[in-house]
Amino acid sequence: MTEFMDYENKKSQLVNQLKNSAGSRAFLKKKTASNLFRYMKNSAEKEGNVAVSDFDQIIKIDPKNKTLDVEGLASYENIVKATLKYGLLPTVAPELKHITIGGAIVGIGIESTSYKYGFVHDGLLEAEVLLPNGKVVLCTAQNDHADLFYSLPNSYGTLGYILRAKIKLYPAEPFVKIISERYDNLVDFMDAMLAATRDQNISFLEGLVFSVQEFYLLKTQFVSHANDVDDIYKKNIFYKLIQKKNTIYLTTEDYIFRYDPDWFWNIPETFVYSIFRAIAPKKFRNSGFYKKYIDTKNRLLSKLGINVSLTALEETLIQDWQVPWKKGPELMQFALENIDLGGKPWAIVPIQPLHSATSYPLRLNELYFNLGCYCASKRNHTDRFYNTKIMDEKCFALTGLKMLYSSTDLTRDRFEELYNGKEYREIKKKYDPEAIVDDLYNKVIAHQSS
Ligand SMILES: Cc1cc2nc3c(=O)[nH]c(=O)nc-3n(C[C@H](O)[C@H](O)[C@H](O)COP(=O)(O)OP(=O)(O)OC[C@H]3O[C@@H](n4cnc5c(N)ncnc54)[C@H](O)[C@@H]3O)c2cc1C
Repeated sequence: MTEFMDYENKKSQLVNQLKNSAGSRAFLKKKTASNLFRYMKNSAEKEGNVAVSDFDQIIKIDPKNKTLDVEGLASYENIVKATLKYGLLPTVAPELKHITIGGAIVGIGIESTSYKYGFVHDGLLEAEVLLPNGKVVLCTAQNDHADLFYSLPNSYGTLGYILRAKIKLYPAEPFVKIISERYDNLVDFMDAMLAATRDQNISFLEGLVFSVQEFYLLKTQFVSHANDVDDIYKKNIFYKLIQKKNTIYLTTEDYIFRYDPDWFWNIPETFVYSIFRAIAPKKFRNSGFYKKYIDTKNRLLSKLGINVSLTALEETLIQDWQVPWKKGPELMQFALENIDLGGKPWAIVPIQPLHSATSYPLRLNELYFNLGCYCASKRNHTDRFYNTKIMDEKCFALTGLKMLYSSTDLTRDRFEELYNGKEYREIKKKYDPEAIVDDLYNKVIAHQSS
């Protein structure tokens, strides 16, 4: 099959390179920006010497069977562009353009379709994984490596790197219509969101919460035509537009990446940035550009001896927590009462997990309430990570889990109890018997590395 030739050639080259030079080890080198926010300690992870960076191409779209074969480092920006040409979309497509398919599978990707289609990994049909020892295995839900298949979610590269994934697609239209409904109390908002999860006409569902009296439910459906498409790059900022307008039209591509131009709500709304918004070419209006800009600026400032750590008044709170739907109001209330986001919203999506994930043991057939926070919070405590810790504890007390792309503070015992450490350790021993790469606890908590 010609579509697979380039991929197969790259794969053979990579495997040979790892085999032929003694002591070689692969490491991930994304061309796009990383979406990890671990800010508690410095990385202690040793890097390999063979970069896996060229596996970022679309391999094959099969419109008949609605599947996509794609290399592991392909970004959602490229995936969504390519599949929309066929009127198709991945079942779950994250909102930041530079998130890659491999990163989203191993990092518990979610979006406003998750109430129907679960997590990104629930749309995975098969994956080819470069194991830490340099061998490549194909895993599916049915083959001899089904244990690896179910252990990829929440593995963060500790079981190997996904070189190719085959994922499910579903039919999409070119435009969407968003209905923004305002509620002034949590109970009505939760009831309306639950009712919307059962409404067959809705394609995407999420909520934004600005305060105890300002809740927005965003019910989005596909439409084939739109006369008056709203602009979220120059004229408007999406999260503010929903407060002003109750019916919004966007292209489907803009909808998927609606929070990307302003990196959710992190781009300052100052005079300088309003000029930047008005004149910057679209290619600069993306989260990857800002992330690189901020990382570079901070590196330069720290070289000049200027302290760029968090200000005494702020704690960066970029996290996602999931609790069973019935516990959602308690988590939301707790967050609103204890944490001040300075007028920026909390984000909510309902999630229905579809398959087991070894290291992310949520209950199947149960709807979850996902609460996300993607900005700085006000700090009233001497502990720099106080807000993170109280939110994490509340989430775990409500029998929930948090994603691990950001900072977490847990002992190994507690971590293993929450994230099914016993089973993970068996899989880790099988697929990385020489412990060539860090295990999950070391990678995402002890070392807080990428
Ligand atoms: C501000 C912010 C907003 C976010 N918003 C969303 C969102 O809207 N929706 C959503 O789904 N997620 C969101 N996330 C979470 C994001 O999906 C995860 O952090 C994901 O792991 C990022 O993937 P990446 O491709 O950017 O990889 P990176 O950030 O570069 O790496 C993430 C981790 O995945 C591993 N990894 C990357 N590629 C592979 C691969 N091919 N095979 C094996 N391991 C690999 C890396 O080793 C690393 O440990 C958000 C994260 C942040 C910080």
